[in-house]
Amino acid sequence: MKKVIILLGPPGSGKGTQAELVSEKLNLYYIETSKIIEVNVMKARPGDFVKIKGKKYSLLSEKKLWQTGKLCTPEVVSFWMKNKIKELSKEKAGLVFAGSPRTFYEGKEIVPLLKKLYGSKNIKVILIEISPEETIFRNSNRRICELMRHPILYSKETEKLKRCPLDGSKLLKRKGLDDPEVIKVRLKEYQERTFPLIEYFEKEGLEVQKINGSPPPADVFKNILCQIHTNS
Ligand SMILES: [Zn+2]
Repeated sequence: MKKVIILLGPPGSGKGTQAELVSEKLNLYYIETSKIIEVNVMKARPGDFVKIKGKKYSLLSEKKLWQTGKLCTPEVVSFWMKNKIKELSKEKAGLVFAGSPRTFYEGKEIVPLLKKLYGSKNIKVILIEISPEETIFRNSNRRICELMRHPILYSKETEKLKRCPLDGSKLLKRKGLDDPEVIKVRLKEYQERTFPLIEYFEKEGLEVQKINGSPPPADVFKNILCQIHTNS
C-alpha cells in the first residue's frame, strides 16, 4: 500500500525542499495546493461553477481572488484537493504534502478521505520544528530566483550565490513578504492555525512526529526517512 506523508512546519522550515526530496526518493506525488489552485482557476470560464454541499461557487470569482493575490474560498480549494487526491489514489500513487492542509477546515475535509483511501497506518504526519528566531532569520535572508521563483534558503553554502543554481537567473529578495515584521505576522498565523490542526490529527489517531529542522537539509532529510520507516 502506498504511503501519505504530511509535512508541516513554520515558514522557512524547509518543508517544500523536504517534500521534493521525499517525493523523489520514495516515488510519491508531491501534491501542491498552490499548483492545484492554479490549474483549476486557469481553466475557469464565464458561467463555470461548482456545487458543494448544495451551494454554488463561481469559478470566475475564484479566479479573480487568485489573480489579486487573495486566498481562494476554503470550500472550493478543499473540493479541488479532494478531486485530485481521488484521481491520484486511483492511479495507486503515494502522496506527499507540504504545509497542507493549512487549516483545521481543510484538515477535516481531507483527512477522512485520506484515511479511507490509504488507511491510517500508511499516513505519517511530520512536524519540522525551528525556533521563532530562526524562522525570522531564515525568511528575512531568503531569496528567490527571477525566472522560476525557486526559493534559495540562507545557509553558509548559499550565502555567496549570485545566480540560481537551477536556471542561472538572478537572485532577488521578495519585497514585503519577507520583511521581519511581515514574517512575525505569518508566524503568528501559522501557530494559531497549526496547533488546532495537530490536535485534530491526534484525535483522528494520526501520530504527529516532531523533527528538528535546524540541521542542514540533507540531515533533516535523513531523519525524515528514519521516521517514515519506523513502525511501518
Ligand atoms: Zn531558478
